[in-house]
Amino acid sequence: MIDPYDWIDRSLNTIHKAQWHRSPAPIEASQGNYITVAGRQLLNFASNDYLGLATDPRLKAAAIQAIQIYGTGSTGSRLVTGQRPLHRELEESIASLKKSADALVFSSGYAANLGTIAALVGDRDLIIADQYNHSSLKNGAILSQAKILVYQHCDLNHLQKLLKNHRNQFRRCLLVTDTVFSMDGDLCPLPGIMELATAFDCMVLVDEAHATGVLGATGAGAIEHFNLDPDRLVCIGTLSKALGSLGGYVSGSAKLIDFLRNRCASWIYTTALSPADTAAALKAIELIIIKPSIGRQLWHNIEYFRTLLASTNIKMIPSDSAIICWELPSAEQALKISGLLQEQGIFAPAIRPPTVPTSRIRFTITAAHRSADIEKLAATIESLGG
Ligand SMILES: *Cc1c(COP(=O)(O)O)cnc(C)c1O
Repeated sequence: MIDPYDWIDRSLNTIHKAQWHRSPAPIEASQGNYITVAGRQLLNFASNDYLGLATDPRLKAAAIQAIQIYGTGSTGSRLVTGQRPLHRELEESIASLKKSADALVFSSGYAANLGTIAALVGDRDLIIADQYNHSSLKNGAILSQAKILVYQHCDLNHLQKLLKNHRNQFRRCLLVTDTVFSMDGDLCPLPGIMELATAFDCMVLVDEAHATGVLGATGAGAIEHFNLDPDRLVCIGTLSKALGSLGGYVSGSAKLIDFLRNRCASWIYTTALSPADTAAALKAIELIIIKPSIGRQLWHNIEYFRTLLASTNIKMIPSDSAIICWELPSAEQALKISGLLQEQGIFAPAIRPPTVPTSRIRFTITAAHRSADIEKLAATIESLGG
């Protein structure tokens, strides 16, 4: 008998041979700077919880209170039975953090990217995207059916050349980029992208997943960092990184948000964010606004790690954020170093192709790390890489 699923075995074999196979490690407990894996406490340098808010008692209390008032499920889509007062409160709060006119909350950042890109452009349009964009941006572009062109990572000259050669053959054009790149930690040249967008009549969509709560004087992200007008861009973000909850959002002009409420399939045809997740994110933004010292602690820790590394001969991939990567020659080497770090009590994953072009260990620094944690990380890296 022919097994129509036979090809999966062959495909898995290929994945194993390339050292690309992955399976999730169960994290038994997570508390600020530590996680527990297989009964062992490890220093966590892999979390996207940049401000240490995911286990904050104030977020927990807000989530519990929301469950007590509204229950665990939101029971329907926003346009039917799903909307609670909390959802609009959260959207107003995101808009005020981002200094934009309005915002729209999604079930995840991934869903926000898929639906928003597909709503903004179609088969008569053009998307020009950075080579290292996040998976959700790439798949959103495919879903939209627009023509997709890719420019070399952060290369404005290449972007300009593509615009010159192709822009006038299409109706609308959308430039798409991460602001902070998730697997490298560097920052896109956003002011230059905005200039080209103006010159060539393009919309600009940015993914601020790793910039929100991290960059900018008030933690609003890269748009604030570069002092740009938020309502001239389509800004996407997540509630699940610095905001310690779950969900995604789009922020921008009032007409953009009103349009998405009417045309964005991944917002219309899905269940509204749960009351607990909504309330936790709302509390996180309130804390970021009233307690800027959390963000300052994060940057203090990032600078401390950079200073300690500077006195070693270990070279990291250039970074402008809390993501700092150690590039290694092979997937095998990256796996080995990640295992050795774990033996020394440090959790940091090996990131390998096909996620990234070159293998690396990806470290994330958070506000929850203590000086001693960062000292231990730097010393361990030096002992393994020297
Ligand atoms: C994590 C991430 C997302 C997806 O956000 P979720 O809310 O986790 O779905 C989108 N874009 C980038 C750049 C990310 O790092």
